[in-house]
Amino acid sequence: MANLLRDKSTGMHPGRRLSKSKASRVARPVTPLRVLVIGAGVGGIAVARGLLQDGHDVTVFERMPEVRTGGGAVTIWSNGATVLRQLGVDMDGAGEQLSTVRVVTSGGRPIATIDVTAISATLGAPTRMVPRRVLLERLLAGFPTDRIQCGSPAVRVLETPEGARVEFADGSAVDGDLVIGADGRHSMVREMFGAQAAEPTGWCSWQGLISLPEVADNHDATIIIGEHGNLGLWPAGGSQLQWWFDLPWSTDFVRPDRPIEMVRAQFSGWSEATDRVLATLTDADLDLSPFPHYRHPIPREWGQGPFTLLGDAAHTIPPTLAQGTNQALLDAMILRRALTSAEDLSRALRGYEKMRRRKVAIVSWLTSLQVSHAESALRPAALIPDRFMTWILATFLRAISHRDHLAGFAPA
Ligand SMILES: Cc1cc2nc3c(=O)[nH]c(=O)nc-3n(C[C@H](O)[C@H](O)[C@H](O)COP(=O)(O)OP(=O)(O)OC[C@H]3O[C@@H](n4cnc5c(N)ncnc54)[C@H](O)[C@@H]3O)c2cc1C
Repeated sequence: MANLLRDKSTGMHPGRRLSKSKASRVARPVTPLRVLVIGAGVGGIAVARGLLQDGHDVTVFERMPEVRTGGGAVTIWSNGATVLRQLGVDMDGAGEQLSTVRVVTSGGRPIATIDVTAISATLGAPTRMVPRRVLLERLLAGFPTDRIQCGSPAVRVLETPEGARVEFADGSAVDGDLVIGADGRHSMVREMFGAQAAEPTGWCSWQGLISLPEVADNHDATIIIGEHGNLGLWPAGGSQLQWWFDLPWSTDFVRPDRPIEMVRAQFSGWSEATDRVLATLTDADLDLSPFPHYRHPIPREWGQGPFTLLGDAAHTIPPTLAQGTNQALLDAMILRRALTSAEDLSRALRGYEKMRRRKVAIVSWLTSLQVSHAESALRPAALIPDRFMTWILATFLRAISHRDHLAGFAPA
């Protein structure tokens, strides 16, 4: 990884000494750290919320004039839900709590019905489909808004004798002890490390949220897999339905004049609910689509000195396993933990990155696997009992969740 820009007068950052407070349930540094978070997405706000709770002096810088609450719904699996609980985020009634995920082929052959209620019971927290807007509102409830400085695009980070500096587009700068780059897929902080950019996977999603009570009013999510594409219809609370249609995509993609016609041509007849959704959608619903899928090569290190990355900035993954937001929340939890239990700041950050890299690499690799398959290729999967499929997913979620740390934090 290339060296970050350094203040000319410095050599290596010596690392800040932290000490543990035995009185608190989570050890806290005696001196609060001045933490500079770049990016007010789910990851940036989550880590800021946790570090504020731990007594640090945290400021979040967002390039947009306000926190962006747009987007469709995101899946909060039990692992993400547990982190939100630790952060004291009230998720009661948010979005839709899921009971099952039903996977079928485009020809209507059942492949699996995964018992999400059982998974949630095993892992001790519900699984929800939550509009991103609702998730951000819940994360921001009780959050001191003066800690978020919107309209502050960060353009450069550098190391100083005292720690770290962030420079902004208007020529201003701010100093702190550490910088967390939570600035999303096209992270400026990541770029300054010289880490590889995200690469397109060859697929994209046409997706969004619509109000369609006759399809959305239940707890069951559906995935339909075809040979040249796949789709999802997931209830997201009340009458809201998150829909997506995944199709191949390349950089020379030319957007059709009537995208809804193209999507209808690919997916009509896949199920009754699909046809209802396709009949309801218009070209306007596809205005923001398609969203090409990207995947970052996971670097060996995603930080240096007083700098680290979090969420999509560190590990953009395709939406295949619906793990993006959950992985950002897990980053926030492990980084918080690392900063409260380590003796040396730089070492604490490298420890966080190492711990997260192993888990994220597994998730990232799995999301690189092809979803779409011909009916014949899916036949063997249909022979696997649903209970075993449910067990596989629960085991996977448990394996990527840092269960020992999930249990270690006192609820906020
Ligand atoms: C507007 C929006 C809509 C989305 N919609 C969906 C969706 O429908 N479904 C889904 O699964 N995922 C969606 N995502 C992605 C999803 O939120 C993330 O994958 C996941 O939550 C991890 O979030 P993150 O905080 O790491 O990154 P992000 O959510 O991408 O947040 C990064 C933040 O950093 C800010 N930023 C970037 N560069 C700078 C800079 N130089 N200086 C200051 N601030 C900067 C960005 O404006 C953004 O607010 C969306 C993200 C955004 C920003």
